[in-house]
Order: sequence, then C-alpha cells, then structure tokens
Amino acid sequence: MEEAGGGPEAQYERLALDTALSTLLAVLLYVAVKVSVDRLRHWRARVSVLIVGAGPVGLTAALVAVRSGKVLKLTLLDERYRAALLCRPQQIALQPRSVRFLLALGVDFDNMEGCWDNEHFFTRIGVFQEHLLSILEQQKYRQEIRILLGTKASTRLPAVRAAAAGTLRVALALPGD
Ligand SMILES: Cc1cc2nc3c(=O)[nH]c(=O)nc-3n(C[C@H](O)[C@H](O)[C@H](O)COP(=O)(O)OP(=O)(O)OC[C@H]3O[C@@H](n4cnc5c(N)ncnc54)[C@H](O)[C@@H]3O)c2cc1C
Repeated sequence: MEEAGGGPEAQYERLALDTALSTLLAVLLYVAVKVSVDRLRHWRARVSVLIVGAGPVGLTAALVAVRSGKVLKLTLLDERYRAALLCRPQQIALQPRSVRFLLALGVDFDNMEGCWDNEHFFTRIGVFQEHLLSILEQQKYRQEIRILLGTKASTRLPAVRAAAAGTLRVALALPGD
C-alpha cells in the first residue's frame, strides 16, 4: 500500500521543487534589494564640481550643475576680476531654444537689460554674465558654492589638484571648448 501523499519518489520531487522555489525566491529577493539599494545610492550621490571659466558657457554649466541637485560643492573660477568680467561690451544673441533652456534654469529675462527681436534676446555679454552670477550667488546660502574671480586655473590650486587626481568632476568652459 502507498504512503499518503505519494511514495518516496514523489516526496523527493516535492522536496526538489520546494528547494528550487525557495532558491529562486531568495535570488529574486537579493536582486530586488540590490537594485533598490543601488538606486537609492545613485539618487543620494553628490559630486564636487570645478568649472574653469565664468563666461556664458561656464556660468550656464554652473547653473545646470546647481539645479541638478547632485552637487555637493561647486567651485567656479575665472582669471578675470569681477569688473573685467562684467564690463564686456560684445553683444550676445540668444536663440529661442537657448531662451527656453535658460528660462527653465531660472534666468529672468524681464529683469535683464536687453531687447527682443523675433523671439531672440539680445544683450551685452557682461549683462548676461552678471545676471547668471547673481543667481549663483543667491544659491550660495543653500549650497556650497565658491566663486573665485581673479583666479587663474593652475595646478597650485587645491581644487585643480583634486580634479587632476580624479576626485572632482571638472568642466572647462574656455573659448573654443
Ligand atoms: C569682438 C567679439 C564680438 C562678439 N560678438 C558676438 C555676438 O554678436 N553675438 C554672440 O552671440 N557672440 C558674440 N561673440 C562671442 C561671445 O564672446 C562668445 O560666444 C562667448 O563669450 C563664449 O562664451 P564662453 O563662455 O565659451 O567663453 P568666454 O566668454 O571667452 O569665457 C571664458 C572665460 O574663461 C576665462 N579663462 C580663460 N582661461 C582661464 C584660466 N586658465 N583660468 C581661469 N579662467 C580662465 C576667461 O577669463 C573667460 O572669462 C563675440 C566675441 C568677440 C570677441
């Protein structure tokens, strides 16, 4: 007469199935926990950023970095002093696409000297830089932002040395980049 629940073979099969299912469950659980922990770590990750050059490109890059919420510490340096940086008389013409991009970063064209023509915004480079610089300066109270004007990028600077050592993200915003 057969035992209740089947013979030894059937019990063996059930045991093998149980073992396979519990292993699968353990693997799935491990993968789910690992994926969640990695996502959380990635979400919380913060980097230090060094931007060399406070021209329109460098300042815009600084704003993008600050708005990303991923920056632990931002250092922006330019060899020009503030007066030399902001008195640049050349004109800059911002296309509609750039205007939309800059609006999303908090650039307030209504409070910037300049004029509109066919959805393009025209202003002096110095005016544009001053506006972006002022937005960054307002953020200083919320985030660690250092703006070093009159400072040429050189390997003597700790921030530049850290960038060379790979412990810092670096963006070069120099002409021609
Ligand atoms: C005469 C002239 C007329 C122009 N007219 C127009 C125009 O009508 N419309 C228009 O859209 N554009 C015009 N431009 C172009 C405009 O100047 C550029 O598009 C704009 O400045 C580019 O921005 P940028 O941030 O890449 O470079 P830049 O504005 O040149 O900024 C680079 C910054 O890096 C700094 N720097 C360089 N080396 C170092 C270093 N080793 N360490 C620290 N800081 C450093 C510099 O001091 C500078 O402030 C004109 C340019 C010139 C020269």
